[in-house]
Amino acid sequence: MQSIMLVKTRPPRKVHLLRRHLYSLRFKLVLWYLLILAITLCLFSTAIYLLQQNTLYNEADNNLQAAIRVLPDVYDANSEHLVAMNTGIYADMYADNTISVLLNQQGQIVQTVGRPGTPDFYRLPVHFLLSSNAAASQATNGSAGGNQNIRFFSTREPIIDQSASPPWNGYVFETVTITNRQGHTLNFVLVGLHTFIPDQLSQLLSILVIITPLVLLVSGVGGYWLAFRAIRPVQAITRTAQEIGATDLHRRLNLTRRDELGELATTFDDMLDRLERAFERQRQFTADASHELRTPLSIVNTEVERVLQRPHTSAEYIQTMEIIHQENQRMTRLVNSLLTLARVDQGQTLLKCEPLDLSEIVVDAVERLACLAEQSKIEIYLSNLDELFVRGDRLYLTQLCTNLLENAIKFSAGIGKRVTVSLDRQQDQARIQIIDGGPGIAAEHLPYLFDRFYRVDQSRTYNQLTDTTISPIGSGLGLSIALWIAQEHGGSIGVQSSPGKGSVFEVSLPHDS
Ligand code: ADP
Repeated sequence: MQSIMLVKTRPPRKVHLLRRHLYSLRFKLVLWYLLILAITLCLFSTAIYLLQQNTLYNEADNNLQAAIRVLPDVYDANSEHLVAMNTGIYADMYADNTISVLLNQQGQIVQTVGRPGTPDFYRLPVHFLLSSNAAASQATNGSAGGNQNIRFFSTREPIIDQSASPPWNGYVFETVTITNRQGHTLNFVLVGLHTFIPDQLSQLLSILVIITPLVLLVSGVGGYWLAFRAIRPVQAITRTAQEIGATDLHRRLNLTRRDELGELATTFDDMLDRLERAFERQRQFTADASHELRTPLSIVNTEVERVLQRPHTSAEYIQTMEIIHQENQRMTRLVNSLLTLARVDQGQTLLKCEPLDLSEIVVDAVERLACLAEQSKIEIYLSNLDELFVRGDRLYLTQLCTNLLENAIKFSAGIGKRVTVSLDRQQDQARIQIIDGGPGIAAEHLPYLFDRFYRVDQSRTYNQLTDTTISPIGSGLGLSIALWIAQEHGGSIGVQSSPGKGSVFEVSLPHDS
């Protein structure tokens, strides 16, 4: 059996580079630019050529008309010849460059006047000129020397036979037909003007034909260079973007241009700033979360190892179980908070807003924490709890009040005696105040209080509630969740505190009237 192996070959480097070049923006830009320029130049050259041709023919026509106008005066109908052409004004008219060729009805040359000697009249393209002019002969020029029986018709259109042999290819002709009154043709006169029109036109054509590709070439090279310069920063941006990995997000382009590419680079740098901050937050968050989980896990571990070493009394087992239970609760709370924040970061959290009486929410939170307050020997005092309506999510608003109240109780345990919760309306805002007589917070901590995992006393993770029980202080996530909830409801949280004077946490939410 024969097996065929297909080997896919990569194109050689040169072909690859060429293909890349052909697909490059620079190349496409220059190509379009050249195409438009070529069309414009061709239109422009054609216009110049036609305009020049028209001007030259008009000028020739004017001179021919002057020569034609004298024909009726010099045509002798009896001898059917042109007379007195070499004297007086006719001599001036028929200067070196004008000729008149008189033909009989059969188109044979009868007489030639002007430019003596030089032209070879037998090579004059008589038939071409006669047939070209036959269709156009219309206008009446006049009658011969007062002889009313003779009519002159001229073509009013200069004809040039460029295919004729020199010198006739340089002559511009008009044919005048001389007829009698009955319309019977007597003679034709070919009035010719020696010009340089073909030479002038072919010169102009050669200039245009040479200049157009030259301009295209210079513009192409110049355009390519300009496009190269203009697009160079894009290459820098691409290179940097390729070099940047998740670990070296600190790199920046720092392009100082003021044009669109400068703007693009600044946007790119700003994006990197945001990404770097986000990565840093993410890293910090993971590190903090692991750290927070490690402490309760190692406590549980130590406790279990300790009781397994030797037999204990049932009271000792119970104490160990209580510690494990407490740590378990702490971890559950931490994991719940982390889950909430993860949903917040992903934008997955949807609030189910409805009109709510804020006093009910506050009472609900107070009831939940009544046990903790009792353990901590703190009295919760509720003032001004009239109905106050807001639009919000019951679950989240209860969590917001619980977090603040729990902090107030936790931190004033053993220091203060009372936590006051009040509710009132300030213009269009509903305001909750939670006032405690706890340790207070130093001014330098206030700006960071709502940051994730921020704790004023980082070393203190546990709080002595009674002689026998200790309560975990928390993970530093409560306030950041509370702030997010307030902001999601269009509200805010503020704090006033100083060491030794307790703290006042104030939540403002839009009032639902
Ligand atoms: P925790 O879970 O540690 O309570 P929070 O985010 O709720 O986390 O609070 C952050 C820190 O702010 C606390 O660790 C504490 O240092 C300080 N704090 C919060 N509320 C109070 C308060 N009522 N009195 C004193 N300090 C407070």
